[in-house]
Amino acid sequence: MAKKAIVELHNCQLQKLLLAVGFNITILGSSGALPAYGRFPSSQLVEIRNRHFLIDCGEGAQMQLMKFQANLHRINHILISHLHGDHYLGLMGLIFTMHLLRRTNDLHLYSHRGLDEIITTQLKYSHSVPSFKIVFHQLEKGARQTIYEDDAMTIETIPLVHKLACSGFLFREKIKPRRVDKTKLPEGLRIQQIANLKKGYDVIDTNGAILYKNEELTLPPRKSRSYAYCSDTAYDESIADIIRGVDILYHEATFGLDEESKARETLHSTAAQAAMMAKKAEVKKLLIGHFSARYKDLTPLAEEAMNIFQPSELAIEGQTFKIQD
Ligand SMILES: [Zn+2]
Repeated sequence: MAKKAIVELHNCQLQKLLLAVGFNITILGSSGALPAYGRFPSSQLVEIRNRHFLIDCGEGAQMQLMKFQANLHRINHILISHLHGDHYLGLMGLIFTMHLLRRTNDLHLYSHRGLDEIITTQLKYSHSVPSFKIVFHQLEKGARQTIYEDDAMTIETIPLVHKLACSGFLFREKIKPRRVDKTKLPEGLRIQQIANLKKGYDVIDTNGAILYKNEELTLPPRKSRSYAYCSDTAYDESIADIIRGVDILYHEATFGLDEESKARETLHSTAAQAAMMAKKAEVKKLLIGHFSARYKDLTPLAEEAMNIFQPSELAIEGQTFKIQD
């Protein structure tokens, strides 16, 4: 095989491996109600072990997905936190694009009441029948629901306090199996015995006698990673227990301390409140976003957060935050 082909094959395998283990959050939009200074309304792409989720879909989300080279066909689940326009007005454009690209996979949309009516009305009056099925899932106001589950992970809703029914989303990997320690593996073990080791069983002979204890031949599982997305919300300590200890917390920080009363009035948070939540919930890292158009320079908001909790970072368009296992 030519050297170039071998390198390409190697890169392809490496890419597949990274997708299979990765847990990445890419920021597509960081702006509050108005787009400002090149910042887009809310949207994030979350990739967990080759599963692709879009959280919120503000205007221009599809342009951002293309700009950052996301594969639209891989997005099968779109989670909309609430129906203020800056969190979902990009959805119709994205749906039409998926149709024009001849998508065939079902598209699952999660939202509070009303999104199905909005989407079907627009499709009706444009005489459009998408090339794929749209499956609507309704979120319940104030509830904690498990809205997605597979063999590796779950997504739960987080009840938030806002002017409309609003939910955050908690992504969690399930507990992983123990890893076989290849350096300790005796020769001659059958495939079934190795499979049992991964499930946590001891190695037994045909009479059921223990040949090796599981702990002798295995290493502890890799850690289960987690990400909490807390979209528009007033500061509410009651969610701290739900999001406790997550690897990354995204919390809205629409305003700075200079606009604390405005935050209270509009049921939004300040950067300091986002940081207080991170501290109270003992998360490992804080991202803040949903910045008001009144702030051209975001440094004061970053500083307000960092004075209370570290590490804190601004969730800026194009940045990808990776959680290592
Ligand atoms: Zn809102």
